[in-house]
Amino acid sequence: MKYVKYAFAVAAVLIVIFASALSPKPKTKSDFLLDTYISVTIYDGTEEALDAVVAKVRQIHEDFSAYAADSEVANINKAPAGEAVFVSSECFSLLEKAQALSEMTEGAFDITVKPIMDLWDFSGTPKVPEETELSALLPAVDYRKLILDEENKTVTKTAEHMQIDLGGIAKGYAADCAAIVLKEHGVENAVLDFGGNVVTIGARPVSLWERIKTGKSTAPFAVGIQSPGEARGIVAERVVATISPCAVVTSGGYERNFTQDGKIYHHIIDPKTGRQPENGILSVTVVATDATCADALSTALFVLGPEGVSRAEGLYEKIIFMTEQGEMKTYTKE
Ligand code: AMP
Ligand code: MG
Repeated sequence: MKYVKYAFAVAAVLIVIFASALSPKPKTKSDFLLDTYISVTIYDGTEEALDAVVAKVRQIHEDFSAYAADSEVANINKAPAGEAVFVSSECFSLLEKAQALSEMTEGAFDITVKPIMDLWDFSGTPKVPEETELSALLPAVDYRKLILDEENKTVTKTAEHMQIDLGGIAKGYAADCAAIVLKEHGVENAVLDFGGNVVTIGARPVSLWERIKTGKSTAPFAVGIQSPGEARGIVAERVVATISPCAVVTSGGYERNFTQDGKIYHHIIDPKTGRQPENGILSVTVVATDATCADALSTALFVLGPEGVSRAEGLYEKIIFMTEQGEMKTYTKE
């Protein structure tokens, strides 16, 4: 009897060793780019795939960050109003997409919001701007005054003081590009996390234990949505990725903010007023195949609230609002 017990114990240890040997070993690479931490995890494929993704995101950072010296965006910002600035086709396409999303959301998403962002100065010494400062710069915030010339690939600002900032769309765009790079390198299962912009590709390979339990070798990825009022990492809801790629993009007022005179001010601005929207929304999550759209939409819907959902028709799988009242409002594609 004693020997039987030993035999079971030895068998159990062997199974654990065997199972851990068979468990897939993901590879991860992280960096700080686009003003946020980015991480790429692949469940198949090589280190070169990871390096290629980080190189692509670095290029996007260098070309499209308004704060990187001599980026394409910095060059547009430096040019005087009325001067046509030549840009790369990649930059032009992203600007076109940003403009289309501004039109769909009637300007709730607007990359020309930068002069107002500079007044709030979230990356420096944040402060509530004076009403006179806001009203002086609001005429420069209007995507319709940024003219894109398709044929010549030029961009012209037609308002004094106009500046652009792709911070509300660049991370989603980078995630879409990263997904393409992974595909080119033959990676089939991966998770990208670019500061609140998560994209899952394929499925999660499961351990031998899960395989025995479920009879399946993979399981869908699940992405946790931060509970806005709680400590970082506390999840309010889990989105199961039923599409691939699956972008789960969240805009939250808790991401970057400061307190002045007892009031919290966050980094998403209504381009019409130059101030934070007062709609009781704490976060918006957009689930879609296209992370670029999901990124711009999450920012726009943070401004518009649930009333804006009809403007996102055809572009999302699911939209989840978390409200100040502790409610969760979910909209699913029809
Ligand atoms: P996100 O975290 O994607 O919602 O983007 C927030 C960032 O986008 C801010 O840090 C600003 O750089 C920029 N931003 C703020 N408000 C807007 C807006 N209404 N439309 C476009 N970009 C915005
Ligand atoms: Mg966004």
